[in-house]
Amino acid sequence: MKLVTAQTFNDSVSAHLVKTRLENEGIECYIFDENINNIMPIYGQAVGGIRIKIKEEDAPKAKQLIEEWEQRPHLNQTNETLTCTSCGSQEIYAGFKSFKTSLGWLTLAISFLFMIYPFYSKTVYRCKQCGNEMDLNS
Ligand SMILES: [Zn+2]
Repeated sequence: MKLVTAQTFNDSVSAHLVKTRLENEGIECYIFDENINNIMPIYGQAVGGIRIKIKEEDAPKAKQLIEEWEQRPHLNQTNETLTCTSCGSQEIYAGFKSFKTSLGWLTLAISFLFMIYPFYSKTVYRCKQCGNEMDLNS
């Protein structure tokens, strides 16, 4: 049985979410490199993040499902479609880890210097079209 990577993640919560969804669709999957990513996220990213592996024959179906889920518009708490505050596009990444704040860059640098974690990052929505980062939950 040959395993191929279906998707990679920076955090295990997202990885498990997709794993559950794939399993609901009858696709067997395995999570790789979760422990190294949870213990040492900086090293974890060096090994390529947390990976969901699936059987090679399931790859086309899984790829299609993942694309569908990613293209589905994100909704806010009142079920309205989220749109980019800059260009109005509905193609938005959720849970994007932004280091754009000055505190994020500073703590990222400190994390690398002293090998400590967690470093500060703000979870935002990011527009796929224009790259605008939005904090739509506040
Ligand atoms: Zn935009």
